Amino acid sequence: MKMKALITIDYTNDFVAEDGALTCGVPGQQIEERLTAITSSFIEAGDYVVFAIDKHDEKDSFHPETKLYPPHNIAGTEGRDLYGKLAGVYEAAKQESNVYYMDKTRYSAFAGTDLLQRLNVRGIKEIHVVGVATDICVFHTLVDAYNYGFQMVVHADAVASFHQEGHAYALHHFKNVLGAEVTEGGTKQ
Ligand code: ZN
Repeated sequence: MKMKALITIDYTNDFVAEDGALTCGVPGQQIEERLTAITSSFIEAGDYVVFAIDKHDEKDSFHPETKLYPPHNIAGTEGRDLYGKLAGVYEAAKQESNVYYMDKTRYSAFAGTDLLQRLNVRGIKEIHVVGVATDICVFHTLVDAYNYGFQMVVHADAVASFHQEGHAYALHHFKNVLGAEVTEGGTKQ
């Protein structure tokens, strides 16, 4: 069996809920069913599933995002909890050996984390990505994955952004510049 992994990025209340601190709003909420279904199917198939979740400390004056965004995904707050149905999927599966919840503090899930080592020791060459925001954390994670030599699949119906032009640009970039496969409903675009 070819080893693959799914990275589910930042699908939390602050990034998705109506009252989230840095919400994608409706576009983020519209991917809930699809993102949750993809995540469940990877967990059930025994593939490696990584929940890569932004984590900040309140008033961290040294963090580069502090001057760019309102406080979001603060450790220990409800804003940092997974959004909607994904929360239940994670709760039900969190003890499984193929499910890994990981804090991250930068846009890329590879920055300052053990993600690369975890993928390498499992012989994983292909990563699938879902989550938010398409043009920020999804984007930076895929740029790093490209530089590390992974094959990449982006589920266009399970990524979203605050910013529709940024979302469209990012999908174009994934396909034409990073060489990622961009799929919708499991069909290649
Ligand atoms: Zn952040």
